[in-house]
Amino acid sequence: MKILVLNSGSSSLKFQLFEMKDLQVLASGIIEQIGEEKSQCTLHYLDGDTPSHIEKLLTIPSHHAAIATMAVLLRETETLTDIHELHGIGHRVVHGGEHFHEPMRIDSKVIHAIEDLIPLAPLHNSANLSGIKVAMEQAPDIPQVAVFDTAFHQTIPKHGFLYALPYSLYTKYRIRRYGFHGTSHHYVAKQAAEFIGKPITSLNIITLHLGNGASVTAIKNGQSVDTSMGMTPLEGLIMGTRSGDLDPAVLFYLARQTGMGIDELDSLLNKDSGLKGICGDNDMRTITERSAQDDPQALLALEMFCYRLKKYIGSYLAVLGVVDCLIFTGGIGENSAQVRQISCQGLEPLGMIIDAEKNTCRTNGIAIINSAESATTILVVPTDEEFEIAAQTMQIISS
Ligand code: ADP
Repeated sequence: MKILVLNSGSSSLKFQLFEMKDLQVLASGIIEQIGEEKSQCTLHYLDGDTPSHIEKLLTIPSHHAAIATMAVLLRETETLTDIHELHGIGHRVVHGGEHFHEPMRIDSKVIHAIEDLIPLAPLHNSANLSGIKVAMEQAPDIPQVAVFDTAFHQTIPKHGFLYALPYSLYTKYRIRRYGFHGTSHHYVAKQAAEFIGKPITSLNIITLHLGNGASVTAIKNGQSVDTSMGMTPLEGLIMGTRSGDLDPAVLFYLARQTGMGIDELDSLLNKDSGLKGICGDNDMRTITERSAQDDPQALLALEMFCYRLKKYIGSYLAVLGVVDCLIFTGGIGENSAQVRQISCQGLEPLGMIIDAEKNTCRTNGIAIINSAESATTILVVPTDEEFEIAAQTMQIISS
């Protein structure tokens, strides 16, 4: 039997097919530019034991067509010849609000609750929902599970999740910090606990998920107690194109001075700020290359990114008191020795000491990068959100 994981974006569909007995990846694909003239479809799969891949440019007007195309690709490559080989389908859902503390088997009540949360995440939840609806229509007798990015953070206490706004805005409009990347933060924390050989319930951990989007989580005895993203994924760290933390008065000032409207400000903060806003590039590889050539804007962007990160590590150290483990993950966290080194510079008196040589060694799995004197274990842990969604889907269906 197999498990299919779907991640439906506003114009993309990512999917991964797992063998159920060992959660080996059988196929992994993405359909991009859905709704545009031509859509790029890429599928990596195992042809027997040999890794292979196919790429096609097709016209795919909707998520409905994208899921049908995915089924054709999986059939053509013989990775899934009959829908009934599926034990279940797991869906990534970005916003679970306060409704969902854990993954849920999808039924009409769950669909209504996800619909009800659309105002909090208009682009994400409506795209996730179209994927769910089409999959339910096309595979009505296959159990389906929703796994929420926000669920892991539902243990954050009220004094941590509330903004200091009139309380009625929380009760009336659900304005509060929810946090995101929960599946990744939880996954890498569990991986680290297993690696260290201690139960996660006995560990205090800071997880740094650094990808195009980036967030930090403080985990106390296995539970999220604070996280840097807020009501939306805009708050917190400096990201590829998002500003992260900002004095909200900047927006009033800009609106008054320039006449910019809400949509322009939204786009400015989400799409044109962050690393891109400072140096024109949002890809950390390019920024690293440019800084090696002493490009001043790239050096500044790198310095600002790492400085913000260090401030969050320091504040979560204060939140947790003792930090057993600091974890770097995501494209930047897993691959940029420079970001890891700069953001931990100066934390030595606080017990976080990176070993320069271990930090630059590349491995595919979990790596220890702290020196022997470091009180905190510092790890690089590759994240795998799809694997975690597959594992949780299996668990919910079996329980
Ligand atoms: P997403 O949030 O879209 O899943 P990823 O986790 O894949 O993103 O992270 C993408 C980021 O990782 C990009 O900024 C990319 O430049 C960065 N990255 C990937 N490989 C490296 C590397 N070798 N060195 C520095 N940054 C890297």
